[in-house]
Amino acid sequence: MGWETDHAPRQDELDGCVTCGLCLPHCPTFRLTGSESASPRGRLAAMAAVAAGTAEVDERFEEVMGLCLQCRACEPVCPSVVPFGRAMEGARAEIAVQLPTRRRKLRAWLLGRVLPSRTAVRVASMLAAFAQRLRLHKLPIRLLSRIGGLRRLPLGGPSRAGESRTAAGERVGTAALLIGCVQDAWFGSVNEAAMELLTAAGYDVSAPSGQSCCGALAAHDGAAAATERLAATNVAAFANYDVVVATAAGCSAHLAGYGEWASGGEELADRARDITVVVAEAIADGRLPRLPPRAISVAMQDPCHLRHAQNVVGETREIVSAAGYEPVEIDDKGLCCGAAGAYVLSQPKTSDELGLHKANQVRASEATIVASANPGCEMQLRFHLGDRYDVRHPIELYAEACRGFS
Ligand code: SF4
Ligand code: SF4
Repeated sequence: MGWETDHAPRQDELDGCVTCGLCLPHCPTFRLTGSESASPRGRLAAMAAVAAGTAEVDERFEEVMGLCLQCRACEPVCPSVVPFGRAMEGARAEIAVQLPTRRRKLRAWLLGRVLPSRTAVRVASMLAAFAQRLRLHKLPIRLLSRIGGLRRLPLGGPSRAGESRTAAGERVGTAALLIGCVQDAWFGSVNEAAMELLTAAGYDVSAPSGQSCCGALAAHDGAAAATERLAATNVAAFANYDVVVATAAGCSAHLAGYGEWASGGEELADRARDITVVVAEAIADGRLPRLPPRAISVAMQDPCHLRHAQNVVGETREIVSAAGYEPVEIDDKGLCCGAAGAYVLSQPKTSDELGLHKANQVRASEATIVASANPGCEMQLRFHLGDRYDVRHPIELYAEACRGFS
């Protein structure tokens, strides 16, 4: 009975909920089901019942927590500022310890050991590249079908780990680039754009070779030991830089919460930035240019871990405008696209419902280019939109436009 780990939901986090219900209409799973147990308030009540000893961490508790997307749309609207994402990571860590299954242990190994291994990711990428060329994603197998949401993968290619570049023009500081677990292999042009723009904005940029996967997916799955190990590796690797920059919204949001996972994590969190914030800042103070407008619309998709977790919204519009495009709003509420890391595989029905809804919002905008600052969201959008649409990171659109004017 009760909690067993240091990461469990804390009493002050649970006591913060005044049960006002203001979060309910913002929660995708509550909107889909109308069920209290699928709402932030219901999930916090379930955690509070375990903390009070009137309920256990059992299969029902796992089911209630498992449907949550960890999108954190409930956080910015909560008058009590309940740190729901933190509490949910704690609940997942408890489930992993109190309900150990072979499947969960396998996931912890995949997320904690395989995903952070550059060799393993390269081999998996090569296999996926072959599968794309053989059109295996057309087979009715869910895991294979998701390959259809990837960009066309190269059959090989260098990693940016260990690469350094010097600032162009006046130097403003040093920046470390978190290259990510799959970002470098699957979305290499995003990391390339980040390096180009950071040097153009006055940073000496390095991608330290000692870095690892940020650990966001492990944390979301409750693999606490793996999350701690990965965070400690990155705290050491990124020790001597003015800013630590992530090019995936899920990674920058997780770096912002490193205080929970590693000694020295809070200090790293203070230096961590999403690339969209750094680039928008450089455009605002004239270190990066604004390019002439052209009459091409770009549909703006807000990754939850930028919009809800970090309150980054205007920055992506600034970057797309500075590239000369017209940003078009598709969803003023910022409803999750249903990607949510491994959710695509663990909760396929809800994930597909949300993915289709988001794809329809894009179609209604009539734009055929979509800006999305998170790889998971991009894959989900590509999968549900099909080949007629191009989904790109805002900094890729901007870097490409800058190249055209240099
Ligand atoms: S994180 Fe998202 S899905 Fe989970 S309770 Fe909050 S709003 Fe709902
Ligand atoms: S908005 Fe905050 S305080 Fe109100 S029910 Fe939701 S979590 Fe609880």
